[in-house]
Amino acid sequence: MDIRPKKRALICGISGQDGAYLSQLLLAKGYEVWGTSRDAQMSSFVLLRELKIADQVKTISMSLTDFRSVLQVISKVQPDEIYNLAGQSSVGLSFDQPVDTFESITLGTINLLESIRFINPKIRFYNAGSSECFGDTGNEAADENTAFRPTSPYAIAKAAATWQVGLYRKAYGLFAATGILFNHESPLRPERFVTKKIVAAVCRIANGSNEKLELGNIDIRRDWGWAPEYVDAMWRILNIERPEDFIVATGTTQSLRDFLGAAFESVGLDWQKHTIINKNLMRPSDPVEISGRPNKAAQYLSWEPKVKGSELVGMLVESQMKNDRSVCIK
Ligand code: NDP
Repeated sequence: MDIRPKKRALICGISGQDGAYLSQLLLAKGYEVWGTSRDAQMSSFVLLRELKIADQVKTISMSLTDFRSVLQVISKVQPDEIYNLAGQSSVGLSFDQPVDTFESITLGTINLLESIRFINPKIRFYNAGSSECFGDTGNEAADENTAFRPTSPYAIAKAAATWQVGLYRKAYGLFAATGILFNHESPLRPERFVTKKIVAAVCRIANGSNEKLELGNIDIRRDWGWAPEYVDAMWRILNIERPEDFIVATGTTQSLRDFLGAAFESVGLDWQKHTIINKNLMRPSDPVEISGRPNKAAQYLSWEPKVKGSELVGMLVESQMKNDRSVCIK
């Protein structure tokens, strides 16, 4: 008989933005939280420390691409739920590191799924999917039935992982589900992501820097949401009766130009005076617009995002100006 007092979660990729917020959420729900890093001894878990929860989670080294390592960690932790947030997560970097991107995402997912089958098929599995899988959605916002047309090495890997999860759910009856998450931002985002790059530069310029912000294509349109709300959707996906895939988005897109304008405007500046378009920063291929409809999540998960559009931009600039990365739950 299982006399375990608390549910136990294993978060793969706990050192990242979503890993930190998800840890915070699960701890608040009374979970015992374990998290993996490729090298837990060397990792500083700075984001967990920013949220002041580093001493409340147990960390362990795991290499997702090494089946033995994955098997050993799951055997040791014996989790009720696994959230796979690990893997190379930058679309831009995936053009320079396509093999590592593909392996860390697809091999990582299959190793986790196979280990679950082997060790305990009752473990619930969350897969971090991506809106990038849709490619350009044009005027028609994507829903859970929209075909994938990935246009980057990252998106191709995420599409393959999503199909793997669907297969293991259907073929082996696992509780395995994908959250097809649209971009979600927070003060914990690293600067290699364009939104954080903009926000950080805006604050430096507002504080007197005379640098110019260099950007590539600012005409792309994306749906940007608030990361703490998105990890709540992940938990909900694993805590309904049947495993299903869900789109997690705000349902509102804005162009990067709008994001840029709102960020500079929030500190009383005109973006055009401080920004340079550098064609070398454009990606080999980049969908113009990726939009999605989160209706299914609203209906079956009772999940509704509160933060969107220019409000999100204002919150990001405000926390950056205060240099306060712990502001997270709205
Ligand atoms: P992060 O990049 O912040 O975190 C991912 C973690 O994965 C890192 O902390 C790192 O942990 C590990 N990792 C990084 N590169 C590799 C690699 N090459 N091989 C193995 N492990 C690696 O991502 P987020 O928290 O922002 O996102 C979580 C997940 O959600 C990712 O899978 C991402 O692709 C996906 N996603 C994110 C979106 C977003 O807007 N944030 C949108 C849609 C999907 P360590 O170094 O400790 O091993």
